[in-house]
Amino acid sequence: MSLFVQKYGGTSVGSIERIEAVADKVAASRAQGHDMVVVLSAMSGETNRLIDLAQQIQDKPDPREMDVLVSTGEQVTIALLSMALKKRGYDACSYTGGQVKILTDNAHTKARIQRIDVERMRRDLDAGCVVVVAGFQGVDDEGNITTLGRGGSDTTGVALAASLDATECQIYTDVDGVYTTDPRVVDSARRLDRITFEEMLEMASLGSKVLQIRAVEFAGKYKVPLRVLSTFEEGGGTLISLDEDDEMEEPVVSGIAFNRDEAKLTIRGVPDTPGVACRILAPVGAENIEVDVIVQNISAVDGTTDFTFTVHRNDLAKAREVLERVAEELGAKEVISDDKIAKVSIVGVGMRSHANVASRMFSCLGGDNINIQMITTSEIKISVIIDERYLELAVRALHSEFELSEPRAAS
Ligand code: ADP
Ligand code: ASP
Ligand code: MG
Repeated sequence: MSLFVQKYGGTSVGSIERIEAVADKVAASRAQGHDMVVVLSAMSGETNRLIDLAQQIQDKPDPREMDVLVSTGEQVTIALLSMALKKRGYDACSYTGGQVKILTDNAHTKARIQRIDVERMRRDLDAGCVVVVAGFQGVDDEGNITTLGRGGSDTTGVALAASLDATECQIYTDVDGVYTTDPRVVDSARRLDRITFEEMLEMASLGSKVLQIRAVEFAGKYKVPLRVLSTFEEGGGTLISLDEDDEMEEPVVSGIAFNRDEAKLTIRGVPDTPGVACRILAPVGAENIEVDVIVQNISAVDGTTDFTFTVHRNDLAKAREVLERVAEELGAKEVISDDKIAKVSIVGVGMRSHANVASRMFSCLGGDNINIQMITTSEIKISVIIDERYLELAVRALHSEFELSEPRAAS
């Protein structure tokens, strides 16, 4: 007998009919004798609706109150699924994050899980009960409700699987696995049977929202077997492979990720002297704003330089405010910003052993007249910042350049 943690996303529980269908799937696994823990998201659109309600009252509501609000969506679906399971004759019990208990730090709206008490769940499982847990939420050590960031139910699923030592964590969603790129943008995107954990980590961090990045980090850290599958179609989905000495030879590029959520800031004419990068970025960091791609130009003849970096679009206004202050202190010429940019990344562990991947990427984009504004690379990824208007064109062109529609073969 195995223990499975199954997480169902918003679309999968988006209506009563769909919740009934999820209950059928869970019941079928239970009927095979498996112990079942089910993690649910809110109904699709619900979390956005709640955020919108808050914003009708205040632009930047108190994060603690936001968590009290947005965590309600998941409380609805867990109760409904438990009812649907009971109707089918299965014992089931629903729990909020605070009841389980999923202890987090107190970083409201982006809390991190610190510990999970498994005792209550174990007791239920031993008694043959299906445990249904609200995703995306926890509680801090003072009993305040916290949430784990958008897409956080994935992380709840993996964290529960880790703490219960589950056979597998299965992420059920509205696509039948992880694709070479978002199948909603490239029709010919291909589903991968397996993807290495490292690649999945990069894809998630570079914008593929099929899995929340923290969920992938958790799976890697605690060696949780993780699979992405469709709620609506049968199939084996995609296994996130933790097997380090996987025999399969890797293609150069495995996938393409993209992200429309970035904005770019440039501070022009800053003195090109030691310590200046820190004087620009430290105040930005002090405001809890994460900086992504950074480029410093070479020095101009007058000993000044331009410094450009990207941040999340939601942080642009705040970052600009900070930078205007820094510009005054440093006697810089001006601050300019652009929120019509996007980041496109190619990812693949095979890049390690292949030269010329970058030039192939750049010449492909150049061939389509797409100007590259910034570049950043690591061992297994190359990211470029481009004009947002060309994002889909770039993703399609690169998908075809690296022959990602073709069956995965050694190259
Ligand atoms: P859920 O509500 O089930 O958590 P999400 O919307 O968070 O679902 O994630 C699934 C979506 O991720 C898919 O509908 C797809 O558009 C998107 N996606 C982005 N990149 C990829 C990729 N490489 N493979 C599969 N899906 C992807
Ligand atoms: N409901 C939350 C969100 O929409 C968490 C999740 O679905 O994973 O972000
Ligand atoms: Mg999701």
